[in-house]
Amino acid sequence: PSALREVLIEMPNVRWEDIGGLDEVKQELKEAVEWPLKYPKAFQRLGIEPPRGVLLYGPPGTGKTLLAKAVATESEANFIGIRGPEVLSKWVGESEKRIREIFRKARQAAPTVIFIDEIDAIAPARGMEGDRVTDRLINQLLTEMDGIERNSGVVVIAATNRPDILDPALLRPGRFDRLILVPAPDEKARLEILRVHTRRVPLAKDVNLRELAKKTEGYSGADLEALVREAALLAMRRAIAELPEELVEEESEEFLERLKVSRRDFE
Ligand code: ATP
Repeated sequence: PSALREVLIEMPNVRWEDIGGLDEVKQELKEAVEWPLKYPKAFQRLGIEPPRGVLLYGPPGTGKTLLAKAVATESEANFIGIRGPEVLSKWVGESEKRIREIFRKARQAAPTVIFIDEIDAIAPARGMEGDRVTDRLINQLLTEMDGIERNSGVVVIAATNRPDILDPALLRPGRFDRLILVPAPDEKARLEILRVHTRRVPLAKDVNLRELAKKTEGYSGADLEALVREAALLAMRRAIAELPEELVEEESEEFLERLKVSRRDFE
């Protein structure tokens, strides 16, 4: 019996409309990942080779993981997610085996998107610290990627905030040769992200998302999500504090009525 834990295959449920902004990135991912997975024969017919690997890079919390899950969902593909740091720490001594196993499972379950988050953790430029472990890992990863056959229905998406420290060998043709910047959201994108995250939140009439988008310069998607969550919690805290105790319960109209996020909760 192998000591390897099962490689977890997920079926994510993130749709394009769950991601605010990033229209160009979504389009690029459609063409580079979704189309090859859905219409492999069309690529064959046109004689073009789809990328085996796509690298998403950009500041933290801007939706890279979300994008990888969405493209898997929209392609009706399976999803195997791993994180660079866990490859190094948790899989000590068996990392290479693990990588082999992941690609084997991916082929078996194809179409599959393999997502490697924080790939910089396993892929700092080789020789930099003379680190043999990461050397062997990168070699294993490169071998697996080189072995992805045309139309095998396996695509690797990796994400990093530090594209500058990646091993250049990873970026050669046939590997992660499609680089896509996932930028911090501008005002219009922030408005869309706020809309996504308030879709199921009861908002009081005084809440102005446009104004909020304007005021949140420098916020990432993750920051905006946290802002909405905190505002909702404030609304709940207020409802509980302001009502007599006997009215604070699930079925109470007064309680439900007060569970509304208003402008001051965002300040
Ligand atoms: P990191 O670089 O820190 O791993 P990331 O770029 O992978 O971050 P995600 O993990 O995809 O970012 O985003 C974190 C959370 O922030 C998401 O679960 C989502 O709720 C929210 N978020 C980020 N970007 C967006 C976006 N463009 N639209 C909607 N939600 C977003």
